[in-house]
Amino acid sequence: MENTSIPNHILVMKYGGSSVGSPVAMKSAVRIIRETKKEYPNLVVVTSAISGATDALIKSATDASSGNLTTAEKTAHELTARHHELIDKLVEDPKIWLQLKMDVNRLISEFVNLCNAIKILGELSPRALDAVSSLGERLSVRILSAAVESAGIKSKPVESTQLIITDDVYQSASPDMELTSVRCKKVLYPILNEGITPIVTGFIGATKEGSITTLGRGGSDYSASIIAVGLEAEEVWIWTDVTGVMSADPRIVPDAKTIPALTYNEVSEMAYYGAKVLHPKSVKPCVENGIKMRICNTFAPQSQGTILIHNNDAVDVGKIKAVTTASGFKLITVSGAGMDSGMNASAKIFNGFVEAGVNVPMVIESSSEQSLCFPIDIKKVNKVEKVLRTILEKEISRKDIDEFEISEPVDILTVICSGLKSHPEVITQVLSKLIENQYKIKALSYGASDVSLNIIVSSSDSISALKAIHQLISF
Ligand code: ASP
Ligand code: MG
Repeated sequence: MENTSIPNHILVMKYGGSSVGSPVAMKSAVRIIRETKKEYPNLVVVTSAISGATDALIKSATDASSGNLTTAEKTAHELTARHHELIDKLVEDPKIWLQLKMDVNRLISEFVNLCNAIKILGELSPRALDAVSSLGERLSVRILSAAVESAGIKSKPVESTQLIITDDVYQSASPDMELTSVRCKKVLYPILNEGITPIVTGFIGATKEGSITTLGRGGSDYSASIIAVGLEAEEVWIWTDVTGVMSADPRIVPDAKTIPALTYNEVSEMAYYGAKVLHPKSVKPCVENGIKMRICNTFAPQSQGTILIHNNDAVDVGKIKAVTTASGFKLITVSGAGMDSGMNASAKIFNGFVEAGVNVPMVIESSSEQSLCFPIDIKKVNKVEKVLRTILEKEISRKDIDEFEISEPVDILTVICSGLKSHPEVITQVLSKLIENQYKIKALSYGASDVSLNIIVSSSDSISALKAIHQLISF
């Protein structure tokens, strides 16, 4: 009879692709599991695919759909070699070693067959793309589990298609939390109660009918939160290749610092505006269920990293914690003397965008309502222009609306600081810094969030403007 009683103090740890992407990294990941297990015997590990694998799989499938199988062949070769190397360096038992090599070869053949089918069909359905892109995690989970076993810890690979039940929105599926919680408990509690560490695939789920889905790029963080909620875990630790959440991208600002504590709101705003720390959807499930989150560095496990805290417990209120940049936008301005409140131009525009599936990250409207501007992903500007011409056809022909203005490429700088509204001096400091350095502010959004200030600057200014704002960080 399976033991489904609730294990105490469950910890979910998630490894990103770089934390398992080389023999050295995976050894460190295994060491961390062994150490952590002493304090948290009920440990569940979620892992991403090895670094670069998902990109290569997606590229192979895309190229196959246009008749080119060379990428798939190259990927099959490279992924086989990298996974075999991990097995050679991390797995000692000859029986397990052989079994794993066969598993890798079988999954790689599955990949090659899928790409062949995609080539024959000449099209890549969203469903087929998820079948291909999920293979990275299906490979990594087996090797990490065997490596953990080799280190003397009982372990078992688990495919999260058994655990995370989603809708059929391929590439960006959402979990049915009720069903998922039941599955997580049913599958993982007995494993934990036997003293075994489950190593679970990140990124993937399945529809009720069993077809593989994925949760969106970088979705393994989200998998970890979903599983933590399902298991009623105590904490989630996200292991990555930087020391927690940094005050800026360290490749841009070499003296960027680790932020010791960030509220859920602060980290969500950062993730939304381009800081690749955490999948934006991964925070909410943990906050709502009182599960603590921590972000740690696989390559410096002793360092504190960043702890995510409740919005009410914000520290360093009124101090800038971080500045991020999201690039690749153009600013579209719609204006006209005939545009006024009676015309409902903004309602029309945004309804049109919803229908056309266009995402607008921020909006600025003048108080007369005669002018409205918003950044749009550069790749979508042509589409957006067409949508605008269609929905505002009448207004344009009546000359109530002038031609739209489309800017040069711009970036969105986001300044993260809890308590912005009660600390207006922060805005003065940021703007003075930009003006002092003669950066032109193209648009500004403040007030909607108490933790972030968004500034649009020309793409050619954004890196140096970001560095200038970073000088204001004083925590
Ligand atoms: N392997 C997936 C990706 O590259 C998921 C993840 O790494 O979190 O997007
Ligand atoms: Mg990631």
